[in-house]
Amino acid sequence: MELWIQPCAACADLYGRPSSVEPHDTLAPGTPDTASPNQHYVCGRCSAVFTRVLSGRQAGQIWMLLNAGQH
Ligand SMILES: [Zn+2]
Repeated sequence: MELWIQPCAACADLYGRPSSVEPHDTLAPGTPDTASPNQHYVCGRCSAVFTRVLSGRQAGQIWMLLNAGQH
């Protein structure tokens, strides 16, 4: 399935990393999610949208790329 946007190199590198890793230079904080403590970031280069998961299981606390599924 062609779900994924084409992330820039920095985003491709960040995806799946632990959320303790600092965001790279092109990531800007996105709209806060009031329903969760997770942070959202948007890449100024490739428009990737990340959730920095800061809650839940330790193993789930990673950088997730959200805008898979956009057309
Ligand atoms: Zn990017």
